[in-house]
Amino acid sequence: MNLLEYEAKQLISKYQVPIPSSVRITAVPADIPLPAVIKSQVPTGGRGKLGGVQIVDNTKDIEPIIRDLFAKPIRGYRPTTLLAEEKLEIARELYVSLLINREQAIIELVAHTDGGIDIEEHEANSFLRREITPHVVESVGEQLAEYYKLESQTFALQDLVENLYNCFVKSDATLIEINPLVLTEDGRLVAGDCKMTLDDAAAFRHPEWDFEHMHSDSNFVVLDKTGQIATIANGAGLAMATVDAVADASMTPANFLDIGGGASAESVLAAFRRIMEFSHVQGIVINIFAGITRCDEVAKAIITAKSQLDDLPPLFIRLAGTNYEAAETLLTEHAITLLSTLEDCLGAAKETTA
Ligand code: GDP
Ligand code: MN
Repeated sequence: MNLLEYEAKQLISKYQVPIPSSVRITAVPADIPLPAVIKSQVPTGGRGKLGGVQIVDNTKDIEPIIRDLFAKPIRGYRPTTLLAEEKLEIARELYVSLLINREQAIIELVAHTDGGIDIEEHEANSFLRREITPHVVESVGEQLAEYYKLESQTFALQDLVENLYNCFVKSDATLIEINPLVLTEDGRLVAGDCKMTLDDAAAFRHPEWDFEHMHSDSNFVVLDKTGQIATIANGAGLAMATVDAVADASMTPANFLDIGGGASAESVLAAFRRIMEFSHVQGIVINIFAGITRCDEVAKAIITAKSQLDDLPPLFIRLAGTNYEAAETLLTEHAITLLSTLEDCLGAAKETTA
């Protein structure tokens, strides 16, 4: 599971890794201290080059920039959250990461003297690579300081790597990447960006995990990021049949999603958020045959999604089964249309996307 930048930063900050002060934005207008850097929270890198990172100096620019960032898809992902951070005065951008080197079965530190948006351009052999163990982590600050030519930061680098290593091991991470690691004009080392991957197989021992993608990750499969129709169904069989039906109706399904038996309003809402990241989606087909799942829970999630998510594409909803009547009452109260069959949903979807 990949974390969003703000989630990764919260996590490393619990282990005393310095991060910029920040405010999370989920709606316009927003009140933020200036100058700030506003960053699109999408599950992909390269935002800087694609306009997903904007510096704001004047109050009058805040609102247009926020609107622009919410509207701008980055590699097919549209953000539902932005992060407004204190603007750092950057003296140097460094690169540091910890990852699992599977071939050698070790945790490895990878560093580069020139971090930032062009990191991919560097020759593979220009990176510093070191195996990290509980023993060697105690002396890595010195090596890193020498490599970066930042001897005056030896202690800060030592703390940084120890804290990152601690976070990596305790969190069951497979990757923590800080790029850039910013050296500020006033001599602080701060994580300017952070990318983190956690090992899904370790979820059972992390009851504290609560991340945007986890509710929907396991049963959510991206089929085509440029697809026009997203799908939400329950049960793997019905979910596959729904995807097939969309394709048979000559539309491109963006995803497969089985919300599972007994899906809560929260997990359905998480699915909507996930779908909102696809910028090409023009409609969502919701096909629920409720047994353990309850239609009224799904209806509640639909109503919440409608009120919380601006730009939610049109919904084509067919519900049947447990608590159908309660769902129908709820949806009717909120002027949300229910259709009787999947065919009706596809027909209506087709008209919208034509
Ligand atoms: P990425 O492109 O998705 O990796 O996004 P980053 O968060 O790494 O930001 C990209 C680039 O924006 C950084 O390498 C910096 O050059 C610039 N940037 C980000 N935050 C700040 C900041 O606080 N101050 C300044 N001056 N530049 C920043
Ligand atoms: Mn970055």
